[in-house]
Amino acid sequence: MKRKFLGIDIGGTNLRGKIISEDGKPLAERKTCSDAHMGISRLIENLSSFIKEFPCEEVSAIGIGIPGTIDRGDGMLIQAPNIANTKNFPFTKALIEKIGATTPIFIENDAACAALGEYGAGAGKGSNSMIMITLGTGFGGGIILDGKLWSGEDGFAGEVGHMTINPLGPRCACGANGCVETYVSQVAIKRIVCEYPELCKKLAGTEESSIPKRLAELAHKRDESAIEIWNNFGTNLGVGISILVNVLDIKTVVVGGGLSGSWQLFIDKTIEEVEKRSLGAHARGLQIKKAFLGDDAGVLGACYVAKSGLEKNC
Ligand SMILES: [Zn+2]
Repeated sequence: MKRKFLGIDIGGTNLRGKIISEDGKPLAERKTCSDAHMGISRLIENLSSFIKEFPCEEVSAIGIGIPGTIDRGDGMLIQAPNIANTKNFPFTKALIEKIGATTPIFIENDAACAALGEYGAGAGKGSNSMIMITLGTGFGGGIILDGKLWSGEDGFAGEVGHMTINPLGPRCACGANGCVETYVSQVAIKRIVCEYPELCKKLAGTEESSIPKRLAELAHKRDESAIEIWNNFGTNLGVGISILVNVLDIKTVVVGGGLSGSWQLFIDKTIEEVEKRSLGAHARGLQIKKAFLGDDAGVLGACYVAKSGLEKNC
């Protein structure tokens, strides 16, 4: 009998689940609220009910994408800024106890899942190695080398948002100064907008998550400050990408996440900067592509995590 895999993507707002067949065909799909902001106990509760909605007896393994730092081997969630009260939580153990399942469960970071999804069925399909950059609240990433996710010696690889691009730059949430995330992310845009008094006034009262969209509208209406912000955003993204391609010599960079919706406003500056900074051989044949699976990338990647987890364990 052909095997089936269940993938779950935990988002700040939603849980998304999908079952795929061994050859990647989607068989079932669902979505519900995650209530992640209400804490880890509530999340485990919701996740357990959600998993039970799927025909788990037909599933060979479950993969789960989590927005946080994880320890794959022990199934621990080390920290997750968007899930309240979470530090060193035995995630897999708690979930298995709750659902009473015997199906193997494998966890992975959510940005890494998105990278696996785009690599397997999205903008990175057909490439050998790929870097995925997810532009959302922060600047996330996933690195795929020779077809495999590179997790690093301790499992924490892919923290591309914390490459320093200006040691004298603004303070980052990680404690360092001038990480690329402090220039190229939703959080960064909120801060930068306030450096332009007129723009700050225009956007006063706008929710943080809506500021990039409003800023894009203003840029399309030829607001000079808004255009300048998107240009600098593109340039700084290019600085980050050039560091990665110079070090790794990877020819496919996929950019996704909510802010990639403003692609036309920043991509020319990104390409210009990458061409300026990448060493000749590295720039040759380099493709910077827009992700096209959207929210589906993470959940599909979680299915692949289930599949590869099972194969590694066999
Ligand atoms: Zn940082």
